[in-house]
Amino acid sequence: MADRFFPNDLPPFMEETTLEEATSSQTPIPHSLTSLLSLPYTTLTSKLQVSALHLKQSVVNETWGSSGNRVKDYTLYTGVLGTAYLVFKAYQVTKNVDDLNLCLKIVKACDSASENSSRVTFICGRAGVCALGAVIAKHAGDERLLDYYVRQFKEIELPCDLPYEVLYGRAGYLWACSFLNKHIGKDTIPSTHMRPIVDEVITSGRKLAHKGRCPLMYEWHGKKYWGAAHGLAGIMNVLMDMELKPDEVEDVKGTLRYLIKNRFSSGNYPSSEGSESDRLVHWCHGAPGVTLTLVKAAEVFGDKEFLQAAEEAGEVVWKRGLLKRVGICHGVSGNTYVFLSLYRLTGNKEYLYRAKGFSCFLLDRAQKLIAEGKMHGGDRPYSLFEGLGGMAYTFLDMIDPQVARFPGYEL
Ligand SMILES: [Zn+2]
Repeated sequence: MADRFFPNDLPPFMEETTLEEATSSQTPIPHSLTSLLSLPYTTLTSKLQVSALHLKQSVVNETWGSSGNRVKDYTLYTGVLGTAYLVFKAYQVTKNVDDLNLCLKIVKACDSASENSSRVTFICGRAGVCALGAVIAKHAGDERLLDYYVRQFKEIELPCDLPYEVLYGRAGYLWACSFLNKHIGKDTIPSTHMRPIVDEVITSGRKLAHKGRCPLMYEWHGKKYWGAAHGLAGIMNVLMDMELKPDEVEDVKGTLRYLIKNRFSSGNYPSSEGSESDRLVHWCHGAPGVTLTLVKAAEVFGDKEFLQAAEEAGEVVWKRGLLKRVGICHGVSGNTYVFLSLYRLTGNKEYLYRAKGFSCFLLDRAQKLIAEGKMHGGDRPYSLFEGLGGMAYTFLDMIDPQVARFPGYEL
């Protein structure tokens, strides 16, 4: 088990120095982990921003610069839409119009590349292209382009054999609808458009759960997954943003209670129903993705049990979440969002410290550890979900924790 993650030897908590203390110090601060952790917050985030913008440039050069408009992988997950998502985040921080124009170009190329794609979700399909395209067009003040992307979005057809999960299924399409309604305006995608899909998700979940102990259940490739990417945690996360009937709300709550009740004794969550392998502490499988869902449940339902379970899952991430990978799907960057999310929910500054701990670990050590072969750079090393793109994105999200959101998962 221990070889999947680095032991967490970060100090349990460190107060930040004030700006005066930091600037009055005569000796230059060495670039080490504990020194980083004691910096005033804005000083630290300035360093994270410098690193992020540098990384962003490498990501653009590697994924877009050389290939120009020939897009092989258009997705947010491992493709150039992920690059656009990162560049758009950089634009929101720096307001550099060149970044916004680059986003428009990349999304346009993704639009052509995904035209005949049967993938429909935000993270791995065409909904992500059209939804992000609309939001970027809005920021660019281009009404015509905004209308175009919203129209393209509405023309997406869901194949009948589509699964239900976030990465490749109906939940991943519904999340894109919520994303548009949040960023473009209420009812951009009306609930009448989403309702039939919600019905399918609920009906199918009840059918597979038939007489089971969990009210809703789904299958993907023969497995009943629990996690955020392919399973229950992800589907419940999306359903909580839908207008649900009272009995549907009870089924969502019941499903979350089932997960909590049947988690491992370590506090971690199995990747699928019946699995006894307590190994994965990822957003995609395990406690991190479940934590984000439980934070959402605590916000939406206000029940203390979800808040408590979210905090308990967060403990697992703190202990076992310094993974030997950088990305946001199954790496340290993604696990950092667990603490940002718990911080926003509770206001407890220890969670912000933990988010700092993980991001400072990345800033201080990731590239060195990758170069030494002690950390895996990701199968797609510059991508948003598996590689350095995700690390840069996380650094930029550290600047203002109140607006930080796990890409494609937190609204
Ligand atoms: Zn993953």
